[in-house]
Formats: sequence, structure tokens, C-alpha cells
Amino acid sequence: MSRRWLFADQLGPHFLDERRQPVLLIESKAVFRRRAFHRQKAHLLLSALRHRAAELGDQAIFLRTETYGEALRRVPGPLEVCHPTSRSALRFVRGLDRVAVLPPRGFVTTIDDFAEWADGRRGALRFDAFYRFARQRHRVLLDGDEPVGGRWSPDPGNRGPRPKGVRRLDVPPPPVPTEDDIDAEVRADLDRWEREGVRFVGRDGPRRFPATAAEAKARLRHFLRHRLAHFGPYEGVMLAADPWLAHSLLSTSLNLGLLDPMEAVRGAEQAYRRQGAPLSSVEGFIRRILGWRDFVWNLYWYVEPDHLGGDRLAVRRPVPDWFRDLDADAVRARCLSDVLAEVRDHGWVHHVARLMVLGNYGRQRGWRPAEMVDFFHRSFVDGFVWAMTVNVAGPSQYADLGRTATTPYAAGGSPIDRASDYCGGCRYDPGQRLGGNGCPYTAGHVAFLARNRDRLPPDARTARQLAQLDRLPDVDEVVAQEERRGADPP
Ligand code: SF4
Repeated sequence: MSRRWLFADQLGPHFLDERRQPVLLIESKAVFRRRAFHRQKAHLLLSALRHRAAELGDQAIFLRTETYGEALRRVPGPLEVCHPTSRSALRFVRGLDRVAVLPPRGFVTTIDDFAEWADGRRGALRFDAFYRFARQRHRVLLDGDEPVGGRWSPDPGNRGPRPKGVRRLDVPPPPVPTEDDIDAEVRADLDRWEREGVRFVGRDGPRRFPATAAEAKARLRHFLRHRLAHFGPYEGVMLAADPWLAHSLLSTSLNLGLLDPMEAVRGAEQAYRRQGAPLSSVEGFIRRILGWRDFVWNLYWYVEPDHLGGDRLAVRRPVPDWFRDLDADAVRARCLSDVLAEVRDHGWVHHVARLMVLGNYGRQRGWRPAEMVDFFHRSFVDGFVWAMTVNVAGPSQYADLGRTATTPYAAGGSPIDRASDYCGGCRYDPGQRLGGNGCPYTAGHVAFLARNRDRLPPDARTARQLAQLDRLPDVDEVVAQEERRGADPP
């Protein structure tokens, strides 16, 4: 049996064919020299890799080297590897004669199945259509051939608004993993690397995310039992004092390959069928894993590599240092300062804060999509190239002009005010766009629409937004104000 080379995002038992299969694991330091990753992301990656090596014992060759090439020269004989998760890694392994590349694992819908579904579809590939296809293909949340509850997606009203007067949800927090000697060694190594000149962003902190398959399963069980029921109603909410809300915090476990996504999907379906968990929460969770996660993964491979475009919307500027370096203290806009601080301190915020606060701000200012992808990839504990490329290029920055998202996420301060408790404590007013208390999101939205009116899709939502823009008496003043703000933190 060939030795299976496992990348650091292929660490669960489902990446092996047999329990005693010989394994190769490589820890490459060069990866951390090339990019300034979040310190807690570096910790999690190294901790997960070293924990897997410790679990496998003498079943695995575990090499710590500068580069992958250096390690491979020390391992004779044929190797096999599951399809890697980035185009550059796939090119690398395909260029190695003695390495057999196997189909991908760690996702539900295969690349071939997705291509079969997508081929022949005209225009944009719509998520809702893919999600329906995946539910039917994998027989998830179905009664016969129909969706349970009669609809593929529950009433949007089930996604509740921000609960008034509530600072934190009354939901048991996810259990924090207990750090061990491996984590202590990782922390000491990262401290030493920093002294030697390797650069990280963000702050160090206790490891909050699972590093082993056992820890990932424990987090899933806890989520299904204690948190899932609250997920749906509060999925779209942001509370300053409650960064975790009822989110599963399983994205790192899925993206490191510690947890099989179908185990999470089936677990949620059982929680609905056997324990009576609310359908809106169960469906919302399954939609994110079987639906959105697999959609994003498959689009990454299906769509051409020039996906990011780069200059299709007007004005593309560099991402400024204060944003790149997570300098939350430089920012006075409360929502952005708070979300940047969460990323700095935890390497994680949930998807609504990523889209509505971080991505929205960058798109309004015309920051380069490729740099935004790099920001999300480096700064988030769950950030991998495949996930960030499609998420950021599609709905967040609209760099693909509708190939993957029907319309960009484009909004001012009012939706942030409705979804969060940020605006009440902010020096700006979400209802104002000009002057000292004009909200930078509200003004930025006006400037974005004015700059891109001829480049946006001719759909009903955009038409509505442009009609509202045309009724504003002060568009030129707002655009001039935003030009003056330039790259300064708001
Ligand atoms: Fe953010 Fe504007 Fe609300 Fe301040 S007023 S928190 S900047 S949306």
C-alpha cells in the first residue's frame, strides 16, 4: 500500500483508506515566511498537524523542514495524496512523477457531479439551484422527493432581527479545548520564529478551535445538543458583547479536514427528526455546509482562475495598512473597530460580520479583490484559498460581476443598525451621510453606487437602489467627502 501524504487540511480519519495505512506529514516553515498569517491561525495549523503526527505514531513519517521539496527528497518510494485544496498545491503535486493524485475528500458533492450540474446552465450559477440539487442528490431533509416542511428554504422571517435589549444570547458557549504539551511546544516555536523575523498579525491567545478529530466531534455534539436550536433565529445578528452567538464554530474543523461534513449534516438532520430541533435552525445549518461550503469549493475549481477579475468595478485601490494589520484602535466607526478587534483577538468573526462590515467597507472603497482574498485567507483561522477566493470575489467584492452571485452585497449603515447593537454606541449616525456624524457605510454606499452605476447588474434590487440614489440631492458632495476620506480609517 502506498504511503498517503496528508496536507495540513487533510487530517481526519476519512482521508485514509485503512486505519494502519502508512502516512507522510510535512510541516513546512516556508509557508509562514511567505505570508503574515494570524498568530492563532498558525498555532491551530501547527497544533493540528502535530497532534495528528502524535496520534499516528510510527505509522507516520513526520518531517519538519523549510520546504515540501526538502522533505520529499528524504522520503523514498511512491506516494499518493488526496486532491489538494488550492490550484498552486495541485500544480505542485501533479508535477511530481512518483505522487498519485486521488480525488478530493472532505466535501460532499464531487467535482464531477458539480460539473455535470453546472454544464449547460446559462448565465450565473445560482446557489439556490445547486442547494436543491445537493439536497436531492444526497437525500438530505427530504420527505420522499419533497423538502421537509414543504419548502426548500424556510420563511426568511425565521431569520430573526436583533433581539432588543439583549447583550448576549442565553446559549451555552462552545467548550474551549484544553491545551496540552503539543500546544506549549507550538507556542514556544512560534515565539522563537517571531524573534527570528517571521511576521504574524493578530494577537496570541488560548487555542479556541479543535485540533483533533476527537475535539471536533465533541464540538459538533455540543453544538447539536445545546446551540443548534438557537442558530437559525440569530444567524444574521451581530452583538458587540457576544461574538460567538449560536454559531457552530465548526468551520476550522471542516476546513482542516478533522470533521467529515456529512457527519455534521446527518447529525443536524437527526436532531430535527429525533430530538425535535427547529427546522429553521437545522435547515440553516445544513444550507451552510451541504449548500454554501460545497458550492464555494466546487466553484473554485469550476470557474476559470481569472475569477477575481480585479478591475471590473470602478477604482481598485490597495488595502490600507491599518485594515491589513487589524489596527482596530485606529478606527472610530464602532462596527468596524469592534469587528477588526475580534479578528485581531480571535482570528474569527461570523459570516455576517465578514460580509456586512469587513467586505462591505472594502468594496465600497474599491479595494483590490485579490488583496481582500489575501486578507481573509491570512487573518482568519478558517481561511483557505478555495473558500476565500469565491466568497470574496463573489458576494463580498463582486469582482466576478455576477458569475457566482446574482447581485453584490451592497448596503449602507441602516442594515448594520438593524442587525447589530453597534450603532447605538457609535459616534456616527447610520441615517446621516454628510458631515461629522455621517456614517462612513451610508456615505460609502452612495459613493459606490454613483461610481459603479453603469457596471452593476440590471436586476430589480439594483434598479431600486439606483432609483433611490437619483432622488438624493447631495450625491456629488458625498462622493467628494468619500474621496477626501481616501484610505484613512473611518
Ligand atoms: Fe457602523 Fe455607521 Fe453604525 Fe457607526 S453608525 S456602527 S459606522 S454602521
